[in-house]
Amino acid sequence: MDYLPVFLNLRNQLALVVGGGAVATRKVEMLLKAHAQVRVVAPRLHVELSLFRDAGRIEHLACEFEPRHLDGTLFAIAATDRIEVNHAVAAAGAARGIFVNVVDDTSASSAVMPAIVDRSPLLVAIGTSGQSPTLARRVRAQLEALLPERLGELVRLAGAARERVQRALPDIDQRRRFWDQLFAGSIASKVYAGNTREAEALLETELRAAAAGTHRPSGEVYLIGAGPGDPDLLTLRALQLLQQSDVVLYDRLVSPAVLERVRRDAERIFVGKESGRHRVTQERIHALLLEYAGRGLRVARLKGGDPFIFGRGGEELDLLRRAGIPVIVVPGITAALGAAASAGLPLTQRGVAPSVTFVTATGEGAEGLDWRSLSAPLQTVVFYMGVAQLPRIVELLRAHGAAARHPVAIVEKATLPGQRVIGGCLDDICAQAQHAQVTAPALLIVGEVARRAEQSADLVQALVARGAANA
Ligand code: SAH
Repeated sequence: MDYLPVFLNLRNQLALVVGGGAVATRKVEMLLKAHAQVRVVAPRLHVELSLFRDAGRIEHLACEFEPRHLDGTLFAIAATDRIEVNHAVAAAGAARGIFVNVVDDTSASSAVMPAIVDRSPLLVAIGTSGQSPTLARRVRAQLEALLPERLGELVRLAGAARERVQRALPDIDQRRRFWDQLFAGSIASKVYAGNTREAEALLETELRAAAAGTHRPSGEVYLIGAGPGDPDLLTLRALQLLQQSDVVLYDRLVSPAVLERVRRDAERIFVGKESGRHRVTQERIHALLLEYAGRGLRVARLKGGDPFIFGRGGEELDLLRRAGIPVIVVPGITAALGAAASAGLPLTQRGVAPSVTFVTATGEGAEGLDWRSLSAPLQTVVFYMGVAQLPRIVELLRAHGAAARHPVAIVEKATLPGQRVIGGCLDDICAQAQHAQVTAPALLIVGEVARRAEQSADLVQALVARGAANA
């Protein structure tokens, strides 16, 4: 290790920045965030810095750098675009025993600035000993995605409870166990989801139980939308929760690539309802959720798309609430939105499609729909469907007034490898779907916006033909 990582406490301490440009501005901002007193030496100031000066937030010396400018400072940053000036600052600092960072010049610096992930009061500093700042930034981006936005709030909550926990649990092992469970369990996930008040209440309850020796880790369920299939379309929160789940109950629509993002040692249970040989009923899923959460485990209930769009997420939420099991719902990109984006079909468009409706036409659901309004010309309707329903949907739309040439598009396996878009109109889409041998999962998009798909249909058909010839 060539460097010692430390966090400087610069509150109310004088720090020097030499330079008045954009780079210097960023450094000044950082020092101000750390509540330092900032002295800036530069003949001229960048606009933002001059605003800071006018607001009295920095001291400005409008001249060339001289070693005496370091008087009274604890730390200095040289951020000019003139090497000789930067090196003069470094040399003067070395002579006075003051640490100096020279921007983008590790060999001249006695202190290098890390890339940081700021979840104040929690700070992660990343350094490559000056070897590759670009790589440090990449690592930073990865950590940004991994660490919940409200991690700092959890630190504050723990900090505020620290003394009370110390008093209630004098045994250090017991205390450590309590904190570990707290950071891994529903108190933490409540904070991350923005529910600090509930988290505080839960902490009090669990602390009392722990002190009385009756503490049992409480299980919880995450109702997570897995998106349409492409794992990069998972939300950051979904990813975070999948990384901390003990058990994952997943549907048929959850892609293998998404399952790859689940914690390695989590138990994975397939609960797809139409899985050829065995059928898992909704009742069975309910029983599994209660059973696993009841054992104190963190259960991810992973559903394709969004859990609240044709996903029976509402029923599972009600069940868990009735059982008093904490639930966190994480939205996912529903198939219609995934398909629209990857097929390049905007679902609403000025003057053409002022509204969009999501419907499911599977099962008995179709009977209750207002087919007349779904057949009206100026709107977009997205049918979540079993492919077998297609002829019936077309027939009903036509019977309720939709034109034969009304544009439609089928998006098959949206966002997944092998995605296909088939454009056509109500009159020819069934024949096209049959010809192309469309399989599940697929969506039907009805309305003017689907015309864009038709424009590329020739190309698609050529590809289909080539696929058939190859098969
Ligand atoms: N909760 C899910 C929908 C479940 S209903 C969501 O929000 O997306 C299942 C239907 O969704 C399928 O029959 C199909 O019509 C549609 N669907 C799901 N994933 C799809 C995908 N990747 N491509 C096309 N359609 C998809």
